[in-house]
Amino acid sequence: MTDQAPKKRIAIFGSTGSIGTQALDVIRANPGMFEVEILTAQTNDELLITQAMEFRPNAVVIGDHARYEKVKSALASTDIKVFAGESALEEVADFDTYDMMLAGIVGFAGLKPTLRAVEKGRAVGLANKETLVVAGDIVMQTAIEKRAPIIPVDSEHSAIFQCLVGEVRNPIEKIILTASGGPFLGKKPNYLVNVKREHALQHPNWSMGAKISIDSATLMNKGLEMIEAKWLFNLRPDQIQVVIHPQSIIHSMVQFEDGSIKAQMGLPDMKLPIQYAMAFPARVKNDFPRFSFRRYPSLTFEEPDVKTFRNLQLATEALNMGGNMPCILNAANEIAVWAFLRNRIGFLDMTAMVEKTMQKLPFIEKPDLQQYFDSDGEARNFAASLINL
Ligand code: NDP
Ligand code: MG
Repeated sequence: MTDQAPKKRIAIFGSTGSIGTQALDVIRANPGMFEVEILTAQTNDELLITQAMEFRPNAVVIGDHARYEKVKSALASTDIKVFAGESALEEVADFDTYDMMLAGIVGFAGLKPTLRAVEKGRAVGLANKETLVVAGDIVMQTAIEKRAPIIPVDSEHSAIFQCLVGEVRNPIEKIILTASGGPFLGKKPNYLVNVKREHALQHPNWSMGAKISIDSATLMNKGLEMIEAKWLFNLRPDQIQVVIHPQSIIHSMVQFEDGSIKAQMGLPDMKLPIQYAMAFPARVKNDFPRFSFRRYPSLTFEEPDVKTFRNLQLATEALNMGGNMPCILNAANEIAVWAFLRNRIGFLDMTAMVEKTMQKLPFIEKPDLQQYFDSDGEARNFAASLINL
């Protein structure tokens, strides 16, 4: 993009989170390329106000109604529009005034506003993988119909997306999703049973929000990413392989029909896939730290231990079954992680909760959107009923 090109107007949903703040770092470093159109937060009113004063968006949304007055009065001297509540997310997603939504809300809550952006034909930089896990068929079909580009932000999917540039006519034989293995790589159930939240939140290679950090420790994150990959790249389940790569340097790989494998590499830093998605198809010069072979003399790979980290098996089952099963898996997992973060259940109880919910809920082979919402709600209720049993 040249200096003369119009600035890309970015709507950052979940601007106060790990992805959102890093997206703002990228924008701050490239004021000639990007401007902020919308910012949203759930409860972190202080940071939302600070961000709004710095980036002067057209509109902000605070999810929690109780915080509306505070945000409104803090921004009273500006012409920034202030909205509150869940429905406001969809309302601002409906605006015509942004070019790309950076979908950085965590969990199922990101689905409705992201789907609205897709329905509007807007480009979406997708970090919120749960959107595709829950309703990937509907979201991707809508994206095709409305010609809405979905550019992955998740590092593995960004890697695959980057490997596929220039390969439109070349079918994929399989993809290889790399996983760090998380903080408990090599541990067995007798160790995991006693793991506490503080320990589980310490990821060896990435600094991320609480939910995805726990998902990485249980390997549910990789399971969700398999489902995300299926929809993004139109793959069969048997074309998706997971390999443990503890250094997190190779972010994922694509194997083509001639057996050739392309990989995308770099230091683990989410700013790179965020910047790539926002600037696509351009690559933007930056001063992020560079990879050095001296610091990483060996890159290693191993099979995941699916007997210990059973979430990967459960997610594979949901991937194979399709229908509303990934939605059920996701909803039960959100409740499980929520309960674990509040010390209400143990580390291994999270998997048990997901498994029981998958067994209990009725399977629907071809759900419509409402049936996805209903499955999500029912799965949450059932999973919550298992706490303290
Ligand atoms: P964080 O928890 O750090 O941030 C979540 C953001 O969403 C915050 O702005 C939060 O607002 C907002 N939010 C939380 N709950 C709701 C809700 N119910 N309704 C509306 N907004 C809400 O998460 P991350 O940034 O880590 O992750 C965001 C998404 O990106 C997830 O789907 C994750 O899987 C994905 N992702 C993240 C990566 C990372 O490195 N962090 C890597 C790859 C993917 P508030 O701050 O006010 O609570
Ligand atoms: Mg990832």
